Amino acid sequence: MSLYPRDMNIYGDWGNVLTVLRRLRLYGYEPRLHAYNQGDVWPAHVDVVLGGGGQDNGQKRITDDLFAHADDLRSLAEDGTPMLMICGLYQLFGEYFQTSDGSRLGGIGILGVYTEGHKKRMIGNLVEHTRDFGDVIGYENHSGQTFLRDGTTCLGRVDHDGTGNNGEDRTEGARKGNVIGTYMHGSVLPKNPRLADFLIRTAAERRYGVFTPSDDPALVASLRKVDGMADKARRVAQT
Ligand code: GLN
Repeated sequence: MSLYPRDMNIYGDWGNVLTVLRRLRLYGYEPRLHAYNQGDVWPAHVDVVLGGGGQDNGQKRITDDLFAHADDLRSLAEDGTPMLMICGLYQLFGEYFQTSDGSRLGGIGILGVYTEGHKKRMIGNLVEHTRDFGDVIGYENHSGQTFLRDGTTCLGRVDHDGTGNNGEDRTEGARKGNVIGTYMHGSVLPKNPRLADFLIRTAAERRYGVFTPSDDPALVASLRKVDGMADKARRVAQT
């Protein structure tokens, strides 16, 4: 399921949806996409949830609907559904986002983080070192500074390429169970196949008990090609 693609989709975040669909097909699955916008019928079955970033006003537009479905999302998260929330939705999966104009948007509290607007935007390339997915590369552009509550795990750490959560403690993103929040635009998944495969593998194992990639040579060759392109992009980003 793609969450609020109409209002929460900037700096290429829709590319994450395309990447999951494409990789699933290359693994031999037949994915079905639910592009959920405010007021739509909530899908009866969800294997993976992807959410993008948005301007402050886009975040305001979706907040009521997000709260209406907070329990649905919380139970999916508690159940182990893999989720990737970028920037604006990462902030709203936390406790709150206090924007720089002083208004406060509530969050649904799936992740133990809170965000406060900063006068200076944090913009630029972002490289982080993660325990679970190696180096993750992408691009950030946000005014919100996000802080982790005690006991909340970050997704990774930033050395010198980028700001991350807040520019103060070198953390980037947050993870709770199979829910990941991050400031990585890019799009992040085409350039970081390990992260994409984590979502796919987890979703397949939850649904079928096992992840069984197809061994069709044409599909395997296409997947290698896509991964080769990602490697190239990663090398460029890291030089
Ligand atoms: N509006 C939020 C901020 O500026 C999120 C921006 C984004 O999603 N890129 O912090």
